[in-house]
Amino acid sequence: MSSNPRKTDVILIGAGVMSATLGAILKELAPSWEMKVFEKLAGAGEESSNEWNNAGTGHAALCELNYTSEKPDGTVDIGKAVAINEQFQISRQFWSYLVQSKLIDNPEQFIRPIPHISFVQGDQNVAFLKKRFDALSNHPLFQGMEYSDDPEQLKQWFPLMMEGRVPGEEPLAATKMDSGTDVNFGALTRRLFDHLQQQQVEIHYQHRVDQLKRTSDGLWSLKVRNLTNGQVEHHMAKFVFIGSGGGSLHLLQKTGIPESRQIGGFPVSGLFMVCNNPEVVEQHHAKVYGKAKVGAPPMSVPHLDTRYIDNKKTLLFGPFAGFSPKFLKTGSNLDLITSVKPNNLLTMLSAGVKEMALTKYLIQQVMLSHEKRMEELREFIPNAKSEDWEMVVAGQRVQVIKDTEAGGRGTLQFGTEVVSAADGSIAALLGASPGASTAVHVMLELLGRCFPEQMGAWEPKIREMIPSYGISLSANPDLFQELQQSTAHTLGLTEEEVKELVYS
Ligand SMILES: Cc1cc2nc3c(=O)[nH]c(=O)nc-3n(C[C@H](O)[C@H](O)[C@H](O)COP(=O)(O)OP(=O)(O)OC[C@H]3O[C@@H](n4cnc5c(N)ncnc54)[C@H](O)[C@@H]3O)c2cc1C
Repeated sequence: MSSNPRKTDVILIGAGVMSATLGAILKELAPSWEMKVFEKLAGAGEESSNEWNNAGTGHAALCELNYTSEKPDGTVDIGKAVAINEQFQISRQFWSYLVQSKLIDNPEQFIRPIPHISFVQGDQNVAFLKKRFDALSNHPLFQGMEYSDDPEQLKQWFPLMMEGRVPGEEPLAATKMDSGTDVNFGALTRRLFDHLQQQQVEIHYQHRVDQLKRTSDGLWSLKVRNLTNGQVEHHMAKFVFIGSGGGSLHLLQKTGIPESRQIGGFPVSGLFMVCNNPEVVEQHHAKVYGKAKVGAPPMSVPHLDTRYIDNKKTLLFGPFAGFSPKFLKTGSNLDLITSVKPNNLLTMLSAGVKEMALTKYLIQQVMLSHEKRMEELREFIPNAKSEDWEMVVAGQRVQVIKDTEAGGRGTLQFGTEVVSAADGSIAALLGASPGASTAVHVMLELLGRCFPEQMGAWEPKIREMIPSYGISLSANPDLFQELQQSTAHTLGLTEEEVKELVYS
């Protein structure tokens, strides 16, 4: 055990996309700050950020129907969709800055263009989609959205999904945006950590943070176990980011900060079906999002996705939700129970009572047989053959449970939440959605909270990295168009590059 704790400016706990993003931003804003990373696994991006553990959608609200809700008066609320799109543009600009500055390379290894399609069946859903299209297509951020309920047109957009349908049997409709993306967040995370390593950031894999304590001189002291030899090390930092994904709640609770109280977590696991028949994979080229079933949580909206993993085109369907008490895929079955503390017991119990229907739904999902899952897939691909598809286990999402004014005690949250100490010396990221796509926006928000005094001096550099920082792109359509084009060019998302990628 080291008796001499080592001091540093910043410690990032966890090597997922969130720590990677914060580290990369901070290296640009405060290059002289010393930074260390501790990750319990053997490499970067192995948990939720791994390409097989999430859906790889660059969430810009181009196709996700759960970001636009129908108001009681029948109109469609596009507020959330616009906000998420604005946040995705921030990620796009930052990634583009990193490529342009040669801090990371080969963007095609982590981002590819792919049409984003919303697909619905039945009169009611078709009417909703048309209203959604009318509300979005005039908005500057959604220019270029196309709508069709013509089976011939739909056949052009997704032939695989139209084969085997009886003409006129059920009304169908879809919207399409060609500017959608497939993001390999695992590859992006690994690139960002390679970049940080080159910038002299100390990255310690197979090092698990077990304890955090405030010292009398205002620093944070971390007890870290080296998992290769079992030795315990002590490290101190002025600022700590708990970017431990599903592991964040337990670490946050250990800080003892008042902001960590009355917060709980509810794990929802994910499963995808992956197509193992290359002929079928070749017949589809889009991310197609459907509508969640009544009673299903928003994270289990079914979608059929063309993905690029390991330079190979693949086809995934899902996610099917499930229940496991683990907070990380590599976590423990005791994670849920050990997260219940005296200060969040009531919050957790209230959520338990309120969310009985969700628990029941998740248990039903776990029990689904391969054939039952195939039936859901056949709503997308009527001719899908069981032998062409197999299950892969995706990542765990830990949904935040907290007491809110609107929902009362024990309300389940579906977004991401930054929890920080009043003095800004420590912050944690909880929650899962829209997740990795909005990492840059979330980390800038975190910096604003934890480093308010430095933000003024950092602003010019932030603007260099993210030209639209602090500016609404919705209110500045010309700037949006300009940035859309320049980032598409840098990230290899222009039409010419698309053709090369798809047809080469
Ligand atoms: C099924 C599914 C589908 C998703 N689809 C999408 C999508 O399409 N688009 C999108 O944008 N987002 C999606 N997400 C969300 C996205 O994956 C997450 O928001 C994102 O990966 C979270 O990154 P992170 O860095 O916070 O966590 P992680 O990537 O999980 O990283 C946390 C790291 O911390 C480490 N760690 C934990 N505890 C400790 C400890 N005590 N000491 C040291 N290290 C520790 C873990 O080993 C892990 O490597 C999806 C998630 C799931 C599960």
